[in-house]
Amino acid sequence: MKSIAVFCGSSLGANKIYEEAAFSVGQILARERLRVIYGGGKVGLMGVVADSVLAAGGEVVGVIPRALFKTEVVHAGLSDLRVVESMHERKKLMADLADAFLALPGGAGTLEEIFEQWTWSQLGIHKKPCGMLNVNNYFSPVRTMIDHTVAEGFTKPTFASMLAIEDDLEVLLDRFRNYRPSGRKWTEEAVEP
Ligand code: AMP
Repeated sequence: MKSIAVFCGSSLGANKIYEEAAFSVGQILARERLRVIYGGGKVGLMGVVADSVLAAGGEVVGVIPRALFKTEVVHAGLSDLRVVESMHERKKLMADLADAFLALPGGAGTLEEIFEQWTWSQLGIHKKPCGMLNVNNYFSPVRTMIDHTVAEGFTKPTFASMLAIEDDLEVLLDRFRNYRPSGRKWTEEAVEP
């Protein structure tokens, strides 16, 4: 694992604990020499993670759609900034560049991004691990919802376990490193969207 995509809030959240956790995540990812791929913004937890990785001497690649490329939003000091034409292009490029996908607390954008990668792993579009860092139990309701989808027969337990949810980043990174994908959801060769 050389690169990791980080999905997280474009807001800071209501509790300082989220900002502190994002800063610490950036330090650990830099220390682990993991190149960080993210949405390219300087706002919210996105900006905190990027600044923290850069301050610790790490590498950060931003992938931002042209429509979001406004000087108020884009981070000007990244190691590399890729400007793409659409949100779809951005997701594809981020997925290609990353070896694993990590979600920190965030809103709809964050949830959509990590759920998409988890879906793609179930379909066999990629074989990369994905997980959520459960800062302040932020993702516990998501775990409850996923357990509910298993109990009600909409998710196989083996696919549920492909999305790691951990309180501790080191534990999560170990799970990423030891990740073995389960079989694909359907037997036919999965087709990329
Ligand atoms: P949200 O969790 O709804 O705040 O959305 C954050 C996620 O959506 C990030 O992981 C980004 O990839 C993307 N995103 C949302 N807003 C922005 C922004 N202003 N600049 C760059 N990316 C953004």
